[in-house]
Amino acid sequence: PAGAPLPVTGAAGGTNPARESRPLLQVEDLTAGFITRQGPLLAVEGISFRVDVGETVCLVGESGSGKSVTSLAIMRLLEYDNGAIFGGRILLDGTDLVAQSQEAMRRIRGRHVAMVFQEPMTALNPVFPIGDQIAEAVMLHEGKSRAEAWSRAVEMLRLVGIPEPEVRVRQYPHQFSGGMRQRAMIAMALACRPRLLIADEPTTALDVTIQAQILELLRQLKAELGMSILLITHDMGVAAEMADRIVVLYAGRVVEEGPVDRIFERPAHPYTMGLLSSVP
Ligand code: ADP
Ligand code: MG
Repeated sequence: PAGAPLPVTGAAGGTNPARESRPLLQVEDLTAGFITRQGPLLAVEGISFRVDVGETVCLVGESGSGKSVTSLAIMRLLEYDNGAIFGGRILLDGTDLVAQSQEAMRRIRGRHVAMVFQEPMTALNPVFPIGDQIAEAVMLHEGKSRAEAWSRAVEMLRLVGIPEPEVRVRQYPHQFSGGMRQRAMIAMALACRPRLLIADEPTTALDVTIQAQILELLRQLKAELGMSILLITHDMGVAAEMADRIVVLYAGRVVEEGPVDRIFERPAHPYTMGLLSSVP
């Protein structure tokens, strides 16, 4: 039932002192999809799950299972698509995001919940220096002066491990390598210290070495900044490494959820068993 705390168990959970069983994000009976030429297409149908304070929850499922649509729905970005279908409840720290105007959502996005994507240029604008883009968010959400916001940008680039942040902050996205661009997008997402970070396949486009570095960065930032993470991935290896809890999505429905060790040791759903058989 919504609101009932889930038991805090599992190896990952036990080593994570920031975890509390207090809900930060509650997705309740979310249905989302699109009116297509062939008729209505429901990408997710009546899904419910939660992310507690301090938790990393991995939403896993194969391509097309509805993971990205779920993240866009939570961010209320789905409705920018004409013909989007959208219903259910999405509570962020008790505030119903579904009831917010898009104007209110502009103040909530970035400030309370932020998102990073597979492709950094989804979030970064090619025509502005990285520093301006981070500073813009800080000025919007915190009313800081340009100078203060600019120093926050430098500080964030340093925090995400970009060398020579004072130099890099003036550069444009195309002057960054793929991995550094991913770090810059994460810096921008976290500049205003949101309580929830939604990361949609943040390492899928990267080669394995960089992938491991970005996952390590997310772990380190979570410990330092104390946010919660909804990490979306089709890769059970990534989930094994990062998750406190796993939510398995199959054809737009949640088929199983539980602590990471339970899911790996005793998957209850045949689809989860199939996903696990692909992990080396
Ligand atoms: P995943 O992220 O798990 O790979 P998505 O959430 O992107 O899957 O997509 C779920 C389903 O919704 C798929 O069938 C996809 O084709 C469909 N879909 C996604 N975006 C749109 C859109 N803008 N218009 C119509 N259908 C869409
Ligand atoms: Mg996707």
